[in-house]
Amino acid sequence: MAKTRNPSWNARTVAVHGGTRRSQYGEVSEALYLTQGFVYPTAEAAEARFVKSGDDEFIYARYGNPTNRMFEDRIAAIEGTEDAFACTSGMAAVNGALMALLKAGDHVVASRALFGSCLYVLEDVLGRFGVEITLVDGTDNAAWDAAIRPDTRAVFLEAISNPTLEVIDLAHVVSVAHANDALVVVDNAMATPTFSYAARLGADLVVYSTTKHVDGQGRMLGGVICGSRALIRGPIEAYLKHTGGAINPFAAWTHLKGLETMDLRVRAQAAAALQVAEALQGHEKLGQVRYPQLPSHPQHAIAMQQAESGGTVLALEIKGGKQAAFRFLNALQIILISNNFADAKSIATHPATTTHQRLPQAQKDQLGISDGLIRLSIGLEDPRDLLADIQGALAAI
Ligand SMILES: *Cc1c(COP(=O)(O)O)cnc(C)c1O
Repeated sequence: MAKTRNPSWNARTVAVHGGTRRSQYGEVSEALYLTQGFVYPTAEAAEARFVKSGDDEFIYARYGNPTNRMFEDRIAAIEGTEDAFACTSGMAAVNGALMALLKAGDHVVASRALFGSCLYVLEDVLGRFGVEITLVDGTDNAAWDAAIRPDTRAVFLEAISNPTLEVIDLAHVVSVAHANDALVVVDNAMATPTFSYAARLGADLVVYSTTKHVDGQGRMLGGVICGSRALIRGPIEAYLKHTGGAINPFAAWTHLKGLETMDLRVRAQAAAALQVAEALQGHEKLGQVRYPQLPSHPQHAIAMQQAESGGTVLALEIKGGKQAAFRFLNALQIILISNNFADAKSIATHPATTTHQRLPQAQKDQLGISDGLIRLSIGLEDPRDLLADIQGALAAI
């Protein structure tokens, strides 16, 4: 199998060709290897492969598969890391990265504004195994300085938080963490692989829910951990291959096809998100319109220093609380009421009653998840139609 990867290629070329391995048939589209196992020509060859597998040698799909490996090589090349391990879902990737690195007695510092399942892994799972967690306001550099200690083994954060779009000063967190020999693990789902700066700014592991922008068309769950070869083919692969977290080859194949168009999709969605955010600012039915590329965003300066775009998601504060927010949602004609984001179809979410329903009120208040908050994921529709849909629904409140 010939492998294509050239270090001089730009990201869009890598997204189309990176990691491709062609079989003897010379297929154009990446082959989907739906196989659990692999055959050895001789008993000696089987023995040798179990001692040490070569780059194109596979043993069992839980350990690795040619389609999975193409996807891992391609996304690592886009992210700019040496290697990657693909997982069944974003949460398998988050759990795998943390469980592979940590042991009882370790200390972890994490930003408070986390996806609910990430908070569960940190507090409930790792907590049960004797890992101490300190949660901080991720936008407060002094809070990181105060919380990271010599025994801190890892820090965990969402570069752009869900659903309130807080942006963290990653270079600062990396410098404090590394000064204390702590590894930096970034959950980069909202930041997108297209606009990612995590590896460039020194994150040790960059984790994606590839369910989001990589698939981008609502089909497959997936996740990936990107990082150095030593970490990925060391503790990360060991943990994931023995505990069953490897991605299904069919999902990896859809993700390969997703990566071919990701750059175009994400840039179009982000341009539309900016257009919608700018047009909605100051609307009489709205409080704050939150989008990192708007100068009114609390971390606008750092957001624009780190990335070239504010991403594909914005947050609206509807005046009038839950009742007004529900009237708005129910009046939408194009934008779907759902709880995912990054899809080709635009999606509106009311976090307080769905994704973040279980949080105690005090925690919702602390995170800014009010009864009027709507998270809006901008898709690939014509932004003029989306704006008309939103303005019509606002008028219907
Ligand atoms: C969606 C998401 C996850 C979980 O990903 P799944 O693919 O649904 O398991 C984790 N972190 C963040 C920030 C997410 O948005």
